[in-house]
Amino acid sequence: MSPENSSDNSPIFSPAIDMDGPDVQIISSDGSCIPAHATILAAASPVLEGILDTPRKHRSSKNKTIQILGVPNDAVSVFVHFLYSSTCTDEEMKKYGIHLLALSHVYSVPQLKRRCTRALAEELTIENVVDVLQLAKLCDAPGLYLKCMKLIYSNFKAVEHTEGWQFLQNHDPHLELDILQFIDEAELRKKRTRRHKEEQSLYVQLSEAMDCLEHICTEGCTSVGPYDKEPSKTKSPCSKFSICEGLQQSIKHYATCKKRVDGGCTRCKRMLQLLKLHSSICDQSDNCRVPLCRQFKLKMRLSRTGNESTRWKLLVRKVVSAKAISYLSMPKRKREDEPRVNSGMRTFKL
Ligand SMILES: [Zn+2]
Ligand SMILES: [Zn+2]
Ligand SMILES: [Zn+2]
Repeated sequence: MSPENSSDNSPIFSPAIDMDGPDVQIISSDGSCIPAHATILAAASPVLEGILDTPRKHRSSKNKTIQILGVPNDAVSVFVHFLYSSTCTDEEMKKYGIHLLALSHVYSVPQLKRRCTRALAEELTIENVVDVLQLAKLCDAPGLYLKCMKLIYSNFKAVEHTEGWQFLQNHDPHLELDILQFIDEAELRKKRTRRHKEEQSLYVQLSEAMDCLEHICTEGCTSVGPYDKEPSKTKSPCSKFSICEGLQQSIKHYATCKKRVDGGCTRCKRMLQLLKLHSSICDQSDNCRVPLCRQFKLKMRLSRTGNESTRWKLLVRKVVSAKAISYLSMPKRKREDEPRVNSGMRTFKL
């Protein structure tokens, strides 16, 4: 639908205005005139209101003129039509969105500006993204600006080959710098997120190791069980067997290691750390069956005055919260089947 057609059945001139007749001429780039009403223009745009209020009217009393140059004539028609009706078609928006955004910014028509930024954001392509970015910056449209930046960031190799990018490099070094900075920061954010995820998965592994340690020492798993029970030969691997198996190996090693006594074995030291970690998050009183649990608890109670290192406390808290998080992200039905993890939840307050 062309702008002329679209104005046919729209309420562009209400009867009340018709009586007065148009009193402003809008002149566009090729010199064509669009008749309009000063009251409507002034009500829709404070900038136009200001222009219409200037003393120029004393010179040519009846017909005021306003020049809207630098955009296609049809875009000016659509713009004026919008000032009357607050509407424009999707097709018009598709064709003149860039010009309409500029006009809505210059003449301060927020309703049209919102419509344009939304439409332009939907129509972003690798080819037009640099142009739209420049316009978004000029027209102070932060949402659209950010969307362009993100698209450039994720398609930088392709964007580099567009005409828009070449033009930007030659004419707008500040914006080029802004883009490169945005890419740097986005990379940094990505790295930070990845590191956080890696750390998080380490805590989840530790919390799973704590679960395994508990079930090895209470009911036993494939090859290791509580000291007063023979490991059952028919026991099938538990659900966290990849972790549990390693832990069972370490327990067997710990029980027989010759270097353990003089403290010269790293594997045994690691095992001791796991036992201490268990004791730190264990909420069973005297009947816990994990080795050394009670001894560690006693030792920690004696040194409660603050000797416990902050790093250790942080580790304990992170393992406990990883346990809570993996518990909460479990489907509800499964959660109800896991009373042992439930008891871990209570230690969250530690
Ligand atoms: Zn197991
Ligand atoms: Zn050892
Ligand atoms: Zn315990």
